[in-house]
Amino acid sequence: MQDKKIRECIEKIKIGNRSDIKIANNEIGLIWSGIKRESEKSREFVNIFISEFGNFEGINGESNKIAFIGSLKYAFMRANEFDDCFESCKRFVLYCMCNDSGHIRQAMIHSSEYLIMFLNLRPSDFDIEKYGEKYFIKNRERFGKFIWDLEQMADHYNKKEYNKYKYIESLPPSVYKSLEKMRYDLVENGYRREIYQKYKDAKLSEILPQLTFKYTTLGADTIKDGFICDTCKKEKNRLGSSNPIAKKPKMICEDCAIDGYMDSYGYKTHEAAAARRRRLFDVGYLFQDFVADRYLTENNISSIGKLEFEEIQAVFMLGKDMYNMLFDKGDKIELEEIFDQKDIEKKLKAVLDNGEFDWEFFRKSIKK
Ligand SMILES: [Zn+2]
Repeated sequence: MQDKKIRECIEKIKIGNRSDIKIANNEIGLIWSGIKRESEKSREFVNIFISEFGNFEGINGESNKIAFIGSLKYAFMRANEFDDCFESCKRFVLYCMCNDSGHIRQAMIHSSEYLIMFLNLRPSDFDIEKYGEKYFIKNRERFGKFIWDLEQMADHYNKKEYNKYKYIESLPPSVYKSLEKMRYDLVENGYRREIYQKYKDAKLSEILPQLTFKYTTLGADTIKDGFICDTCKKEKNRLGSSNPIAKKPKMICEDCAIDGYMDSYGYKTHEAAAARRRRLFDVGYLFQDFVADRYLTENNISSIGKLEFEEIQAVFMLGKDMYNMLFDKGDKIELEEIFDQKDIEKKLKAVLDNGEFDWEFFRKSIKK
Protein backbone atom coordinates (compact mmCIF):
# COMPACT_ATOMS: atom_id res chain seq x y z
CA MET A 1 0.00 0.00 0.00
CA GLN A 2 2.77 2.35 1.02
CA ASP A 3 4.84 1.32 -2.02
CA LYS A 4 2.03 2.26 -4.34
CA LYS A 5 1.69 5.66 -2.70
CA ILE A 6 5.42 6.36 -3.01
CA ARG A 7 5.43 5.34 -6.67
CA GLU A 8 2.48 7.66 -7.33
CA CYS A 9 4.34 10.51 -5.66
CA ILE A 10 7.47 9.87 -7.72
CA GLU A 11 5.34 9.83 -10.86
CA LYS A 12 3.97 13.25 -9.93
CA ILE A 13 7.49 14.53 -9.40
CA LYS A 14 8.51 13.22 -12.81
CA ILE A 15 5.66 14.80 -14.77
CA GLY A 16 3.92 17.32 -12.53
CA ASN A 17 4.12 21.10 -12.16
CA ARG A 18 5.63 22.92 -9.23
CA SER A 19 2.68 22.56 -6.91
CA ASP A 20 2.24 18.84 -7.73
CA ILE A 21 5.90 18.35 -6.94
CA LYS A 22 5.63 20.16 -3.65
CA ILE A 23 2.64 18.10 -2.53
CA ALA A 24 4.30 14.86 -3.62
CA ASN A 25 7.50 15.69 -1.74
CA ASN A 26 5.53 16.46 1.41
CA GLU A 27 3.78 13.11 1.17
CA ILE A 28 7.06 11.27 0.66
CA GLY A 29 8.52 13.14 3.62
CA LEU A 30 5.61 12.06 5.77
CA ILE A 31 5.99 8.40 4.80
CA TRP A 32 9.76 8.66 5.27
CA SER A 33 9.42 9.96 8.82
CA GLY A 34 7.20 7.03 9.77
CA ILE A 35 9.69 4.34 8.66
CA LYS A 36 11.96 2.82 11.27
CA ARG A 37 15.66 3.03 10.51
CA GLU A 38 17.39 -0.16 9.34
CA SER A 39 14.09 -1.96 8.83
CA GLU A 40 12.93 -3.97 5.81
CA LYS A 41 10.48 -1.14 5.10
CA SER A 42 13.36 1.27 5.01
CA ARG A 43 15.17 -0.88 2.44
CA GLU A 44 12.02 -1.08 0.29
CA PHE A 45 11.65 2.67 0.50
CA VAL A 46 15.17 3.30 -0.83
CA ASN A 47 14.84 0.62 -3.49
CA ILE A 48 11.76 2.25 -5.00
CA PHE A 49 13.88 5.32 -5.76
CA ILE A 50 16.78 3.20 -6.99
CA SER A 51 14.47 1.39 -9.40
CA GLU A 52 13.78 4.78 -10.98
CA PHE A 53 17.44 5.53 -11.80
CA GLY A 54 17.22 3.65 -15.08
CA ASN A 55 14.27 5.81 -16.15
CA PHE A 56 15.98 9.10 -15.39
CA GLU A 57 16.80 9.97 -19.00
CA GLY A 58 13.18 9.34 -19.90
CA ILE A 59 11.96 12.18 -17.70
CA ASN A 60 10.84 15.00 -19.96
CA GLY A 61 12.21 18.38 -19.22
CA GLU A 62 15.03 19.56 -17.03
CA SER A 63 12.85 20.92 -14.22
CA ASN A 64 11.28 17.52 -13.59
CA LYS A 65 14.68 15.86 -13.69
CA ILE A 66 15.84 18.36 -11.10
CA ALA A 67 12.72 17.72 -9.02
CA PHE A 68 13.45 13.99 -9.06
CA ILE A 69 17.02 14.61 -7.90
CA GLY A 70 15.63 16.85 -5.17
CA SER A 71 13.27 14.16 -3.92
CA LEU A 72 16.19 11.73 -3.71
CA LYS A 73 17.25 13.32 -0.46
CA TYR A 74 14.73 11.08 1.31
CA ALA A 75 16.25 7.94 -0.17
CA PHE A 76 19.79 9.26 0.37
CA MET A 77 19.15 9.76 4.08
CA ARG A 78 18.41 6.04 4.35
CA ALA A 79 20.80 4.59 1.77
CA ASN A 80 23.69 4.25 4.24
CA GLU A 81 21.70 1.61 6.14
CA PHE A 82 22.26 -0.95 3.37
CA ASP A 83 25.53 -1.60 1.48
CA ASP A 84 24.00 -2.25 -1.92
CA CYS A 85 21.66 0.75 -1.65
CA PHE A 86 24.53 3.04 -0.77
CA GLU A 87 26.57 1.81 -3.75
CA SER A 88 23.67 2.25 -6.19
CA CYS A 89 22.95 5.76 -4.94
CA LYS A 90 26.60 6.71 -5.14
CA ARG A 91 26.84 5.49 -8.73
CA PHE A 92 23.80 7.56 -9.63
CA VAL A 93 25.31 10.66 -8.03
CA LEU A 94 28.45 10.26 -10.14
CA TYR A 95 26.38 9.56 -13.23
CA CYS A 96 24.39 12.79 -12.83
CA MET A 97 27.54 14.76 -12.12
CA CYS A 98 28.63 14.14 -15.72
CA ASN A 99 25.38 15.53 -17.12
CA ASP A 100 25.73 18.38 -19.62
CA SER A 101 23.29 20.51 -17.67
CA GLY A 102 24.81 22.62 -14.90
CA HIS A 103 21.41 22.84 -13.20
CA ILE A 104 21.18 19.07 -12.94
CA ARG A 105 24.72 18.87 -11.56
CA GLN A 106 23.95 21.63 -9.07
CA ALA A 107 20.81 19.82 -7.89
CA MET A 108 22.91 16.72 -7.32
CA ILE A 109 25.53 18.64 -5.36
CA HIS A 110 22.74 19.68 -3.05
CA SER A 111 21.17 16.21 -2.70
CA SER A 112 24.46 14.35 -2.30
CA GLU A 113 25.06 16.02 1.03
CA TYR A 114 22.17 13.92 2.39
CA LEU A 115 23.91 10.74 1.31
CA ILE A 116 26.99 11.68 3.31
CA MET A 117 25.30 13.47 6.20
CA PHE A 118 23.89 10.26 7.61
CA LEU A 119 27.09 8.29 7.27
CA ASN A 120 28.04 7.99 10.87
CA LEU A 121 31.80 8.57 10.78
CA ARG A 122 32.62 9.28 14.40
CA PRO A 123 31.17 7.40 17.31
CA SER A 124 29.52 9.21 20.15
CA ASP A 125 29.32 7.36 23.48
CA PHE A 126 25.83 6.24 22.66
CA ASP A 127 26.63 5.03 19.13
CA ILE A 128 29.71 3.02 19.97
CA GLU A 129 27.62 0.84 22.27
CA LYS A 130 24.99 0.36 19.64
CA TYR A 131 27.17 -0.26 16.57
CA GLY A 132 30.72 -1.18 17.52
CA GLU A 133 33.96 -0.03 15.91
CA LYS A 134 33.55 -2.03 12.67
CA TYR A 135 30.52 0.00 11.70
CA PHE A 136 32.46 3.26 11.86
CA ILE A 137 35.42 1.82 9.98
CA LYS A 138 33.04 0.77 7.21
CA ASN A 139 31.44 4.20 7.05
CA ARG A 140 34.80 5.95 6.93
CA GLU A 141 35.80 3.60 4.12
CA ARG A 142 32.61 4.41 2.19
CA PHE A 143 33.13 8.11 2.70
CA GLY A 144 36.77 7.93 1.64
CA LYS A 145 35.94 5.95 -1.49
CA PHE A 146 33.21 8.38 -2.44
CA ILE A 147 35.53 11.38 -2.30
CA TRP A 148 38.31 9.41 -3.96
CA ASP A 149 36.00 8.55 -6.88
CA LEU A 150 35.00 12.20 -7.17
CA GLU A 151 38.66 13.17 -7.38
CA GLN A 152 39.38 10.60 -10.05
CA MET A 153 36.42 11.79 -12.09
CA ALA A 154 37.51 15.40 -11.68
CA ASP A 155 41.00 14.47 -12.93
CA HIS A 156 39.41 12.92 -15.98
CA TYR A 157 37.47 16.09 -16.78
CA ASN A 158 40.28 18.49 -15.92
CA LYS A 159 41.77 20.59 -18.73
CA LYS A 160 45.01 22.50 -19.04
CA GLU A 161 43.16 25.80 -19.40
CA TYR A 162 41.61 25.38 -15.93
CA ASN A 163 45.06 25.65 -14.31
CA LYS A 164 44.98 29.44 -14.39
CA TYR A 165 41.99 29.61 -12.02
CA LYS A 166 42.88 29.86 -8.39
CA TYR A 167 39.40 29.36 -6.99
CA ILE A 168 36.73 26.82 -7.88
CA GLU A 169 34.15 29.61 -8.04
CA SER A 170 35.96 31.41 -10.85
CA LEU A 171 36.18 28.34 -13.11
CA PRO A 172 33.94 28.38 -16.18
CA PRO A 173 30.82 26.19 -15.78
CA SER A 174 31.84 22.60 -16.50
CA VAL A 175 31.59 19.06 -15.23
CA TYR A 176 35.02 19.60 -13.68
CA LYS A 177 33.87 22.64 -11.74
CA SER A 178 30.80 20.83 -10.42
CA LEU A 179 32.83 17.80 -9.34
CA GLU A 180 35.34 20.01 -7.58
CA LYS A 181 32.55 21.92 -5.90
CA MET A 182 30.90 18.77 -4.66
CA ARG A 183 34.18 17.45 -3.36
CA TYR A 184 34.98 20.72 -1.65
CA ASP A 185 31.55 20.92 -0.01
CA LEU A 186 31.81 17.36 1.28
CA VAL A 187 35.29 17.53 2.78
CA GLU A 188 35.34 21.15 3.86
CA ASN A 189 34.54 20.25 7.43
CA GLY A 190 37.63 19.53 9.52
CA TYR A 191 37.11 15.99 10.70
CA ARG A 192 35.84 14.81 7.32
CA ARG A 193 38.99 16.19 5.76
CA GLU A 194 41.08 14.30 8.27
CA ILE A 195 39.24 11.04 7.60
CA TYR A 196 39.66 11.50 3.89
CA GLN A 197 43.36 12.28 4.15
CA LYS A 198 43.91 8.99 5.97
CA TYR A 199 41.97 7.09 3.35
CA LYS A 200 43.85 8.79 0.54
CA ASP A 201 47.28 8.11 2.02
CA ALA A 202 46.47 4.41 2.25
CA LYS A 203 45.08 4.38 -1.27
CA LEU A 204 48.20 6.02 -2.70
CA SER A 205 50.45 3.35 -1.21
CA GLU A 206 48.28 0.39 -2.20
CA ILE A 207 49.76 -1.93 -4.81
CA LEU A 208 46.96 -3.42 -6.86
CA PRO A 209 47.69 -6.99 -7.99
CA GLN A 210 48.47 -7.62 -11.67
CA LEU A 211 45.48 -9.10 -13.50
CA THR A 212 46.01 -12.30 -15.43
CA PHE A 213 44.56 -12.99 -18.86
CA LYS A 214 43.47 -15.95 -20.85
CA TYR A 215 44.25 -14.61 -24.33
CA THR A 216 45.45 -11.04 -24.12
CA THR A 217 49.21 -10.77 -24.02
CA LEU A 218 50.43 -8.73 -21.17
CA GLY A 219 52.36 -5.52 -21.06
CA ALA A 220 53.25 -2.33 -22.81
CA ASP A 221 53.96 -2.01 -26.51
CA THR A 222 57.49 -3.19 -27.07
CA ILE A 223 59.68 -1.85 -29.78
CA LYS A 224 62.15 -4.54 -30.72
CA ASP A 225 64.98 -2.36 -31.91
CA GLY A 226 64.61 0.04 -29.03
CA PHE A 227 64.21 3.81 -29.03
CA ILE A 228 65.61 6.78 -27.15
CA CYS A 229 63.19 8.00 -24.50
CA ASP A 230 62.49 11.72 -24.78
CA THR A 231 62.44 12.12 -21.03
CA CYS A 232 65.30 10.05 -19.60
CA LYS A 233 67.29 9.96 -22.88
CA LYS A 234 68.10 6.29 -22.33
CA GLU A 235 67.63 3.51 -24.82
CA LYS A 236 64.47 1.59 -23.97
CA ASN A 237 62.20 -1.08 -25.40
CA ARG A 238 58.95 -0.58 -23.57
CA LEU A 239 56.87 2.32 -24.77
CA GLY A 240 54.87 4.22 -22.15
CA SER A 241 53.28 6.88 -24.28
CA SER A 242 53.66 8.54 -27.62
CA ASN A 243 51.65 10.97 -29.65
CA PRO A 244 51.35 9.47 -33.11
CA ILE A 245 49.73 12.53 -34.68
CA ALA A 246 52.46 14.97 -33.67
CA LYS A 247 54.94 15.95 -36.38
CA LYS A 248 57.88 14.65 -34.41
CA PRO A 249 56.23 12.23 -32.01
CA LYS A 250 57.54 12.23 -28.47
CA MET A 251 58.43 8.74 -27.36
CA ILE A 252 58.35 8.21 -23.63
CA CYS A 253 59.42 4.96 -22.02
CA GLU A 254 57.13 3.05 -19.70
CA ASP A 255 59.19 3.86 -16.58
CA CYS A 256 59.07 7.58 -17.29
CA ALA A 257 55.35 7.40 -18.03
CA ILE A 258 54.84 5.71 -14.66
CA ASP A 259 56.91 8.39 -12.94
CA GLY A 260 54.75 11.04 -14.58
CA TYR A 261 51.63 9.25 -13.42
CA MET A 262 53.07 8.99 -9.92
CA ASP A 263 53.75 12.74 -9.86
CA SER A 264 50.38 13.83 -11.12
CA TYR A 265 48.38 11.60 -8.77
CA GLY A 266 50.68 11.65 -5.79
CA TYR A 267 51.34 7.91 -5.50
CA LYS A 268 53.79 7.10 -2.75
CA THR A 269 55.89 4.60 -4.68
CA HIS A 270 56.76 3.72 -8.28
CA GLU A 271 55.22 0.26 -7.72
CA ALA A 272 51.89 1.64 -6.50
CA ALA A 273 51.74 4.03 -9.46
CA ALA A 274 52.72 1.30 -11.93
CA ALA A 275 50.06 -1.08 -10.63
CA ARG A 276 47.29 1.52 -10.73
CA ARG A 277 48.32 2.73 -14.17
CA ARG A 278 48.27 -0.83 -15.56
CA ARG A 279 44.67 -1.13 -14.52
CA LEU A 280 43.75 1.66 -16.98
CA PHE A 281 44.44 -0.84 -19.74
CA ASP A 282 44.05 -4.21 -18.10
CA VAL A 283 40.38 -4.13 -17.10
CA GLY A 284 39.50 -3.48 -20.74
CA TYR A 285 41.75 -6.40 -21.78
CA LEU A 286 39.99 -8.64 -19.31
CA PHE A 287 36.68 -7.70 -20.88
CA GLN A 288 38.08 -8.44 -24.34
CA ASP A 289 39.02 -11.90 -23.14
CA PHE A 290 35.45 -12.49 -22.00
CA VAL A 291 34.06 -11.38 -25.34
CA ALA A 292 36.52 -13.71 -27.10
CA ASP A 293 35.44 -16.57 -24.84
CA ARG A 294 31.84 -15.94 -25.62
CA TYR A 295 32.60 -15.86 -29.34
CA LEU A 296 34.34 -19.23 -29.17
CA THR A 297 31.61 -20.87 -27.10
CA GLU A 298 28.65 -19.60 -29.06
CA ASN A 299 30.24 -20.49 -32.38
CA ASN A 300 31.40 -23.93 -31.23
CA ILE A 301 35.05 -23.16 -31.81
CA SER A 302 37.30 -25.30 -29.61
CA SER A 303 40.21 -22.87 -29.20
CA ILE A 304 41.38 -19.43 -30.20
CA GLY A 305 44.16 -21.03 -32.26
CA LYS A 306 41.53 -22.13 -34.78
CA LEU A 307 40.76 -18.53 -35.74
CA GLU A 308 42.23 -16.58 -38.64
CA PHE A 309 44.30 -13.56 -37.66
CA GLU A 310 41.69 -11.12 -39.03
CA GLU A 311 39.01 -12.89 -37.04
CA ILE A 312 40.97 -12.67 -33.79
CA GLN A 313 41.61 -9.00 -34.39
CA ALA A 314 37.95 -8.32 -35.12
CA VAL A 315 36.83 -10.13 -31.96
CA PHE A 316 39.22 -8.14 -29.79
CA MET A 317 38.25 -4.91 -31.50
CA LEU A 318 34.62 -5.72 -30.78
CA GLY A 319 35.51 -6.34 -27.14
CA LYS A 320 37.29 -3.01 -26.95
CA ASP A 321 34.40 -1.07 -28.51
CA MET A 322 31.91 -2.78 -26.26
CA TYR A 323 33.92 -1.98 -23.17
CA ASN A 324 33.94 1.70 -24.07
CA MET A 325 30.25 1.67 -24.92
CA LEU A 326 28.95 -0.22 -21.91
CA PHE A 327 30.99 1.42 -19.18
CA ASP A 328 31.20 5.13 -18.54
CA LYS A 329 34.19 6.79 -16.91
CA GLY A 330 32.76 6.34 -13.42
CA ASP A 331 32.18 2.61 -14.02
CA LYS A 332 35.71 2.22 -15.32
CA ILE A 333 37.33 3.92 -12.37
CA GLU A 334 35.36 1.74 -10.04
CA LEU A 335 36.34 -1.43 -11.89
CA GLU A 336 40.00 -0.44 -12.12
CA GLU A 337 40.26 0.00 -8.39
CA ILE A 338 38.69 -3.25 -7.28
CA PHE A 339 41.48 -5.14 -5.59
CA ASP A 340 40.60 -8.76 -6.43
CA GLN A 341 40.41 -9.94 -10.01
CA LYS A 342 37.50 -12.24 -9.14
CA ASP A 343 35.40 -9.28 -8.02
CA ILE A 344 36.18 -7.37 -11.23
CA GLU A 345 35.23 -10.43 -13.26
CA LYS A 346 31.91 -10.75 -11.48
CA LYS A 347 30.98 -7.18 -12.40
CA LEU A 348 32.12 -7.48 -16.01
CA LYS A 349 30.27 -10.77 -16.47
CA ALA A 350 27.07 -9.37 -14.98
CA VAL A 351 27.03 -6.75 -17.75
CA LEU A 352 28.16 -9.06 -20.53
CA ASP A 353 25.66 -11.80 -19.65
CA ASN A 354 22.86 -9.29 -20.18
CA GLY A 355 23.60 -8.90 -23.88
CA GLU A 356 22.98 -11.06 -26.91
CA PHE A 357 25.27 -11.20 -29.92
CA ASP A 358 24.39 -11.45 -33.56
CA TRP A 359 27.45 -13.49 -34.51
CA GLU A 360 26.23 -14.23 -38.00
CA PHE A 361 26.16 -10.52 -38.74
CA PHE A 362 29.52 -10.09 -37.07
CA ARG A 363 31.16 -12.86 -39.10
CA LYS A 364 29.79 -11.46 -42.33
CA SER A 365 31.26 -8.09 -41.48
CA ILE A 366 34.75 -9.57 -41.14
CA LYS A 367 34.57 -11.50 -44.39
CA LYS A 368 34.03 -8.29 -46.38
ZN1 LIG B 1 62.40 7.26 -20.00
